[in-house]
Formats: sequence, structure tokens, C-alpha cells
Amino acid sequence: MNQPPKAKVFIEGRYRKLVRDLPQTVFFCPDCKGHPRRRKKCERCEGFGKLTRDSVQELIGWVAGKAFGTRKNKFHGAGREDIDVRMLGNGRPFVLEMVSPKIFDVDLAELEAEVNRRNEGRIELEGLHWTEKARVAILKETPHAKEYAAVVEVDGAVDDDKLDALVGKRIDITQHTPKRVAHRRADLDRVRWIEFQSIERLEDERGEDGTRLLIRLLTQHGTYVKEVLSGENGNTEPSLASLLGLPCRCVELDVAAILDAEGEEKVQHTGPPVFGSGL
Ligand SMILES: [Zn+2]
Repeated sequence: MNQPPKAKVFIEGRYRKLVRDLPQTVFFCPDCKGHPRRRKKCERCEGFGKLTRDSVQELIGWVAGKAFGTRKNKFHGAGREDIDVRMLGNGRPFVLEMVSPKIFDVDLAELEAEVNRRNEGRIELEGLHWTEKARVAILKETPHAKEYAAVVEVDGAVDDDKLDALVGKRIDITQHTPKRVAHRRADLDRVRWIEFQSIERLEDERGEDGTRLLIRLLTQHGTYVKEVLSGENGNTEPSLASLLGLPCRCVELDVAAILDAEGEEKVQHTGPPVFGSGL
């Protein structure tokens, strides 16, 4: 068993994110980029180099780093959710690439249990197993529909008939790149489908002037869901706001499930083979 040490090892699993203040990967300060020297004088992050204390990557990477004897890793998610969005349901597939490890006989079930124990109430891992580099590209390229649960505030009173009419059919929308991501995404129009699965009124009604709704919806791969709800001043059309004829704001959002491309069949998550199988 005299194998030369490998420069990298790859492990794969799914994560759930149970909180609304956690980015997926290290959130470096945009001003100093976390640079060891420049960050000392940085006003934006006050020398910390990062804008959040930790991230899904770090919570997993700190435990994995100790097990593998390396501080260096790269985190590859099958897409990502916004920092304030929880990732629930079957979790999101990811590959963690451990760079220059010194220890190789790591018990992944034990590693998974340790990550879960140390981060109770924040993140949960499932199905951690050995994998290979080729899985990174598959995770990045496999399209997946998503199921969301959103709390939406509507300015104005809404008829039940109008809400009922929206549920259960696929709607094609045209979505112009939202302003909030325009700095890192091509500026263009995309046609995507969405489907409202259920719309409930929430208890804490806002009186005559407003309505609070809990909406479950499916969206095609690459849909910006907050803008599907607000319409972003016509940048997404139609939107919940334009269909109701009232201003709408998404105030809480959860990814409830990551599905296959059509959104009809749940991806297996009980162990390998997992996400992207069948390609
Ligand atoms: Zn900074």
C-alpha cells in the first residue's frame, strides 16, 4: 500500500441550512478581499477580512480540515441560495475538495456526525461519501427545478378567487437579469416556467391595507424567485405582483426541495448514487 500521497481528495454529500444569516462559501470583504495586509486598514470589515463570521463551507471545512490535516479546501455546491434563504428538505448536493491533505483514512460517517454535532440548529449534513473530481462539473451542469416556500407581503386586499386561479398551472415568465445580480450575470432576458402549488393566508393579517401569504412554488432552473414575486418593476413579467395587480414583497424564503429538471421527480438522496445520476 505504498501509494504516493494524493494532492486532493473529494467528498460529497448534501447540506441543509437552517438559519438566515449564513452564506454558502467564505464571504470575503468586497473592499479588501480579505488580503492579510490590506484588511488591517479596511473600514468596511474593520480588519476581519470577511463580512460574516462563518459560512457553510467553513462550518464543514473546519471539522474536515482537522480530520484531513489541511486547512485548504474548495467548496463546490450544486447552485447556491442567498445568505438569508434557508436550504431545507432534501438538502443541497455539494462536493468538498480537500487540498494537500496529510491524513487519508478518514471515517466520513464520524466526520459527518461531528459536523452535525458542532453545528446543531445551523447546518446538517447527510450522505457524506467519497467521490471524484468529475462530480464537480456534473453538479455545476445538471439543471434542477426547485421548490420554494415564501412569505409574501401584499399591499392591498386580495380576493380568494384571484389566488385560487393562480394555483396548479405552469406559467411562462420572461425575466430580465435582476439588478442585484447584474454585476456578475449577463444582462439578458430569460424565459422560465414557474408553478404556484399552494397559496395560504397567514394568521397575522395586516388589516385592510395588506395581506400576508405563504406561497409554495416550483421554479425552473435558473429562475430568480424573489423577482418572480415582486416583479422588480416589470423586469420579471408576469409576476405575482402583476398577476394580482398589487405590490408584493418576499419577506422570507426557504428552498423546500431540489428536484430534477422538470420538477416532477424527487432526486434520490438516501446515498450514492445521488444528484445527477442518470446522466
Ligand atoms: Zn475589508
